[in-house]
Amino acid sequence: MIIKNAKIVVENKIIENGWLEIENKFIKSINEGKTNLEGIDLEGNWLLPGFIDCHVHGGYGYDFENGTISAFENFSKNVSKEGITSYVQASVTNSKENNIKYLKEFSTFIENQNSGSKCLGIHMEGPFISKEKKGAHEVSLLTNPDIAYLKELVKASKDNVRIVTYAADLQDGSFTKYLLENNILPSVGHTNMSFAQCERDYQIGFRHVTHLFNGMSGVSQYEPGLATFSLYKDDILCEVITDGIHIEKDTLKLIYKIKGADNICIITDAMNAKGLDDGEYKLGNLEVIKKGMKVFLKESGVLAGAGATYDFNVRVMLEANPEIKMTDLIKMTSINIAKQLKIFDKRGSIEKNKFADLVVLNKNLEVLKTFVEGERVYEK
Ligand SMILES: [Zn+2]
Repeated sequence: MIIKNAKIVVENKIIENGWLEIENKFIKSINEGKTNLEGIDLEGNWLLPGFIDCHVHGGYGYDFENGTISAFENFSKNVSKEGITSYVQASVTNSKENNIKYLKEFSTFIENQNSGSKCLGIHMEGPFISKEKKGAHEVSLLTNPDIAYLKELVKASKDNVRIVTYAADLQDGSFTKYLLENNILPSVGHTNMSFAQCERDYQIGFRHVTHLFNGMSGVSQYEPGLATFSLYKDDILCEVITDGIHIEKDTLKLIYKIKGADNICIITDAMNAKGLDDGEYKLGNLEVIKKGMKVFLKESGVLAGAGATYDFNVRVMLEANPEIKMTDLIKMTSINIAKQLKIFDKRGSIEKNKFADLVVLNKNLEVLKTFVEGERVYEK
């Protein structure tokens, strides 16, 4: 297959007018200039590596807690509208019994998935988080990080747990070590830990933080916490919900200035009402209201997961930081997280012999087409 007349964003370079050759799911060649070969004409629109969302609970009426293969499949088909070509699906805090049930179904889905966006595994966000920073997680089900418990979950998932969000202050460092030794990404978050407490696990090796600023001890001159630590350390990759709701645009400017394009990964943290009409929905057992891109608890008005799409978050990030070059944008949407998840040899950039995971955007950065492993899975 040929994709031509594209403005191609490769790592560190823009090819103003070029074409791609795709064969058996992979990028066979990347070429400058025009071609007379038959192919899909992008008419000068952008061609970027597909977006990778490492923290998304669901959308379009589906989420991890539906716990069925058909729900997982439907989500994977729908999410490609946002330019997402691969994602790590996040859980919320559940009982052990329910988690094991959902993970078993999920592992069957993962093993057999053959259409839509590619699910890379599961992001366990809870139950190993703190009561003080629980967000919209159910407090009675929270527990300290526990290796034996985690092992049961990993086993039920058939080794498909890729990321675990946890409160690092509620363990002695052994949990962090266990994650690293077992090729699971430790993501510190939903914790009230102090700056000083972060250092031990940083020395052990954590380099990833769950939704910077949200669900963590913040930036205070008196009580520096995880947010301060994450901004201070150059090599911590921060998940950022760039919807302008969870983080105001002016704060997005500050984050970009401090962390730069190399240490941010844009996420949605979206829940099941994403992509649906405004109205009342459920997040686990909690009643929530979706209004525009915002989702909040009916009772208290507290934000409860997110309702924005990935492409929306990309546009907001660029509105807040218009100086961002497209070669830097793709670091935050694809490259950084692919490296972090150790899949950069196969995905995350437009490069020869990588999977043809691609998104086509118009000049307003709206998604026109999405390709996963060379197959067109979405067309506007
Ligand atoms: Zn989340």
